[in-house]
Amino acid sequence: MVTEQLQARGISDQRVLAAMNKVPREEFVPPDSRAASYADGPLPIGQGQTISQPYIVALMTELLQPRKADRVLEIGTGSGYQAAVLSLCVKDVYSIELEPELAKEAAGRLRELGYANVNSKQGDGYAGWPERAPFDKIILTAAPPEIPTKLIDQLAPGGILVAPEGDRIGQDLVVITKDRNGKMSRRSVIPVMFVPMRKAA
Ligand code: SAH
Repeated sequence: MVTEQLQARGISDQRVLAAMNKVPREEFVPPDSRAASYADGPLPIGQGQTISQPYIVALMTELLQPRKADRVLEIGTGSGYQAAVLSLCVKDVYSIELEPELAKEAAGRLRELGYANVNSKQGDGYAGWPERAPFDKIILTAAPPEIPTKLIDQLAPGGILVAPEGDRIGQDLVVITKDRNGKMSRRSVIPVMFVPMRKAA
């Protein structure tokens, strides 16, 4: 997976490659998908949700430019796989999942597998995690129609936010940076297709 799907497509951050090499992806997929764990595509994780293609996980992690001292917020814990990969690259990960069932399962899985620097909770990602803000990096793994202002507010100066943005017809992977003076810039990287970021009921 690391050689053929990631390095061959240009992922070069050693910290990201090492983390992708280390996290047992098969532990994050349902038992009947285990054989396909390392295949080059997304997989269903229940509740109509998916674990992203390995390349997309690696690309988004690399775009965050993870640093050892970083505190990172993730929206959309899902299986916990992206959180586990991040946790090996940074100091602390805070991850929010809307779906109670998935939130509970992921928290248990991450604890059992020993990812002690991942803090997870059930909640609405649109609100972020203000009590723990600001974050050096923020990653969304569900697509909002537009990047929520509340999340941009929780990004530290010098921070980077990576997210899919758009609807069911079209989404772009966007990178938003906030410089030391709070000035924002954004660029689109590639077209992507993520599950929608839902409004809490
Ligand atoms: N990062 C995950 C993949 C997530 S799929 C992994 O590595 O497995 C997207 C997830 O976002 C789904 O689990 C979905 O339930 C969740 N989600 C959707 N809308 C949300 C919201 N408003 N707040 C938090 N999580 C949300």
